[in-house]
Amino acid sequence: MHTEEHTQVINDQLFSAKVESLAQEIKELKSQNISLKQQLAAKTIQQEQLSKANHRLQTEIIDRQQTETALRLLLDRLSSEKNDLELILDTTTTHSDTIEAMLYDRALSLAREVTVDGLTQIANRRAFDQRLENEWQRLARENSPLSLLLCDVDFFKRYNDRYGHPTGDDCLRAVAKAIESCIRRPADLAARYGGEEFAVILPNTLREGATHIAEQICQAVDNLKIPHEFSYVSKHVSLSIGISTAFPTVRVLSKTLLESADKGLYLAKNNGRNRAVFNSS
Ligand code: GH3
Ligand code: MG
Ligand code: MG
Repeated sequence: MHTEEHTQVINDQLFSAKVESLAQEIKELKSQNISLKQQLAAKTIQQEQLSKANHRLQTEIIDRQQTETALRLLLDRLSSEKNDLELILDTTTTHSDTIEAMLYDRALSLAREVTVDGLTQIANRRAFDQRLENEWQRLARENSPLSLLLCDVDFFKRYNDRYGHPTGDDCLRAVAKAIESCIRRPADLAARYGGEEFAVILPNTLREGATHIAEQICQAVDNLKIPHEFSYVSKHVSLSIGISTAFPTVRVLSKTLLESADKGLYLAKNNGRNRAVFNSS
């Protein structure tokens, strides 16, 4: 072989080797490129995840800040309420005696309202009903008498017509006082039975004693000398009274005594008014 030919062969071999090495290099670079792309994709996913996590944390921080503000406001309110309560407690402790006295007074006045007639300030119908029943039971056990008076103002409608309702009220107040002034025993009770009617309970009292008290009541009302120009039986306000007496027993109802006194009152009205009549039936 000529030297020139030999050189050409060597050059060709070198060139092929070079080409092969370059091809190899290109192949490696391509594979490196793929791997870099994959890494890039993985990084992008990681970045997105981090961004999401960051967003979640930011939202959580805002939530916590809002909760903290709300809690602080609540705490402020509670502490102000606590201060108010401490002040109230302090005041009630300091004035407990006064408050207790006020409550006692209120309880007494409530008890009065339940049993006392507002107009005349003597016992009311409820107190009367209760006392009559209690005394009926008690005297049935003791086998003792019970007397009852039913008093009714004469021609009171005409009194109101002549002097007016407010003066009628004054008259009822004065009559109530007069009736009460005639009873003295602690167990006796004078009550406003209704309208212009009054009732008197006289425990352990027989017909004579009851009649005596009824006449005293008529006299006491007459002594008031309250003018009554429209009355047909007197120049002054007068009463008619029905009287009844019984020995209570558990088999008979207390209302029989009331019915009997009512009959006496009816008789007193029919017999001319301004009088007391005992009914024995
Ligand atoms: P009698 O002699 O038959 O009892 O006649 P009277 O007019 O008294 O009886 P009557 O039942 O017809 O009238 C009762 C009157 O009593 C009618 C009513 O206006 C009056 N009266 C009832 N309650 C009150 C009251 O609280 N105040 C006043 N001012 N009058 C009352
Ligand atoms: Mg009447
Ligand atoms: Mg009357």
